Amino acid sequence: MSTYRIAAIPGDGIGTEVVAAGIEVLHALAKREGGLQFKVDHFDWGGEYYKKHGRMMPENGRSLIRNHDAILFGSAGHPDIPDHITLWGLRLAICQPFDQYANVRPTRVLPGITSPLRSVKHEELDWVIVRENSEGEYAGVGGRVHQGSPLEAATDVAMFTRVARIMRFAFQLAQSRPRKRLTVVTKSNAQRHAMVMWDEIASEIASEFKDVTWDKMLVDAMTMRMVMRPETIDTVVATNLHADILSDLAAALAGSLGIAPTANLNPERAFPSMFEPIHGSAFDIMGKGIANPVGTFWSAVMMLEHLGEKAAGDRLMKAIERVTADKRFHTPDLGGKAKTADVTAAVIDAIVGANT
Ligand code: NAD
Ligand code: MN
Repeated sequence: MSTYRIAAIPGDGIGTEVVAAGIEVLHALAKREGGLQFKVDHFDWGGEYYKKHGRMMPENGRSLIRNHDAILFGSAGHPDIPDHITLWGLRLAICQPFDQYANVRPTRVLPGITSPLRSVKHEELDWVIVRENSEGEYAGVGGRVHQGSPLEAATDVAMFTRVARIMRFAFQLAQSRPRKRLTVVTKSNAQRHAMVMWDEIASEIASEFKDVTWDKMLVDAMTMRMVMRPETIDTVVATNLHADILSDLAAALAGSLGIAPTANLNPERAFPSMFEPIHGSAFDIMGKGIANPVGTFWSAVMMLEHLGEKAAGDRLMKAIERVTADKRFHTPDLGGKAKTADVTAAVIDAIVGANT
């Protein structure tokens, strides 16, 4: 019996709804597989916790999840609390100290789902975006002075190190995919220091991966290419900010933000990695039971792959695709009427019924 200890941190808003659905699905999957078991510990950290305790997670929070095999995360974001407090107090307070520097975001148009790019064929939009997840524009370097005076000034400094680990990770991932193609997103025309170094690192690492075809693209032009020539893209690597923006666009082009998954990886496995849908708390639909749980289910697939449970991951992905193919199980973000619970029950049925 393989037993995995999972730390569940649903957070706020629809995070609580989709993580509950994800855990239900994981338990059903374990039962169907046999020889597999998840011990889930729940942590009620987030906005409500902040209202009671003045912080998003306890001071020793990280030590409570340090020895789990993986973290399943929902969303940090509460209507009554400023976003920079919720994000830095919880999600970034885990990602950064746990050195989850590789943020991996696959995008595909799943069966039954229509891309807003009407003419795109399913096989023409199959991307993975690798987001640098520990530095860059979100390093947290900066400050604010002279508050309240007309001279008030503020800086957010984008900080880049010469450490080439994210570039090497992206080349390796590109090499593992059939097309062996990588696009390095940059802005080295306008940002003439760090982005120029970023480009240099890319060229240096490229020489270690002769079988990977790579190109460089300015981030603004990349948005156009994603819409106009999606079939020319395979693996993408970009900075923290650039990839944050590009991956929401990617999710929308694949049909909905509610579908898109993420892995926050510490590839060296010195710390647990964290898996989450890319969406946030979705204040407009929270509490209505209509959040699309597919992004969380797909994130659970990435978690299973990370844990070395590829067969279980494949089974779950097939179940997800069987359910997305059936429009009766489309939530309102996909133009349907299904509830979170309907999609969850359908995925569990597909898991139990699947013979493969
Ligand atoms: P959002 O992702 O919460 O919502 C954007 C839009 O997409 C909304 O219209 C929402 O209804 C829709 N949507 C998102 N997920 C969906 C799902 N699963 N099913 C159906 N529809 C879905 O982004 P936002 O509105 O910019 O942010 C809301 C809050 O969430 C903010 O506090 C923000 O800081 C936080 N946030 C947190 C994370 C995170 O913790 N990883 C990520 C993004 C935003
Ligand atoms: Mn984002």
